[in-house]
Amino acid sequence: MTGAARGIGRATAHVLADEGADVGVVDLLPEVESAMGEIEAKGRCSTAAIIDISDPAQVRDGVQKIVKSLGPIDILVNNAGIVNNIAPLTKMTHEAWQREISVNLSGAFNMIKAVLNTMLEQKWGRIINVSSIGGPGGLHYQSAYAASKAGLHGLTKTITLEHANDGITCNVIIPGIINTELVHQMPEEIKNGVLGMIPSRRFGRTEEVGHLVAFLASDQAAFINGAEISIDGGMRLNTSILGSRKELREN
Ligand code: NAD
Repeated sequence: MTGAARGIGRATAHVLADEGADVGVVDLLPEVESAMGEIEAKGRCSTAAIIDISDPAQVRDGVQKIVKSLGPIDILVNNAGIVNNIAPLTKMTHEAWQREISVNLSGAFNMIKAVLNTMLEQKWGRIINVSSIGGPGGLHYQSAYAASKAGLHGLTKTITLEHANDGITCNVIIPGIINTELVHQMPEEIKNGVLGMIPSRRFGRTEEVGHLVAFLASDQAAFINGAEISIDGGMRLNTSILGSRKELREN
């Protein structure tokens, strides 16, 4: 489980542990150690690897550490992701582009490379990649982020094409706005504006994403493969922006 120190990743690690999984937790941040402690407190086994997933050598070492203590990995959740550059394309630097692609897309590739052979030997594996509405739809001023997430969709579908007959599923989930620290910190006005774009009129809960991941990781989801699954309260339908306007409703 990558990006498990906080937010969606930490909550998903909890849900997976509640469902009976031993969970290897991966993050750049040392706070991932406390996520490990929480999983152990639930009576499950856990190991933390503090690594940068954009570096293939660190990924190999981190995965090795997890396998040594928990055994072969049969579920991989590529959740770690960054947005560290919000700018129009004319102002986006090559370095900023490179960093987002290398974490959000190459990081997932590195993790998949590190676990796929074991999944093939086991004839069982689940890979869940975490995208964003920017993946299928693009995002203003976030070309690197959107391109990296769109890349995850291509990677997901190709893994399905290559390995669906090997007992492996690979799916990509598309969260809308999920109630993480970032959302908590939004000014009220912006928060209300965003809520107006979500037909459910609320933000998603991190554990709701966790439950979707847990389902996709289960035996019951064996025939869901190469799928792009939204979890966004209907936000992708967009028509809510018009439908929420009072004058349009009354005419
Ligand atoms: P977050 O920033 O709270 O958590 C991301 C975690 O990834 C952090 O703990 C961070 O340290 C870790 N990370 C970043 N770079 C890393 C690296 N190079 N190596 C290892 N770990 C690294 O974010 P979040 O809101 O919980 O989002 C989790 C995922 O969901 C991301 O991929 C994000 O793009 C996606 N997402 C989030 C939302 C949302 O509303 N929160 C919406 C759509 C998609």
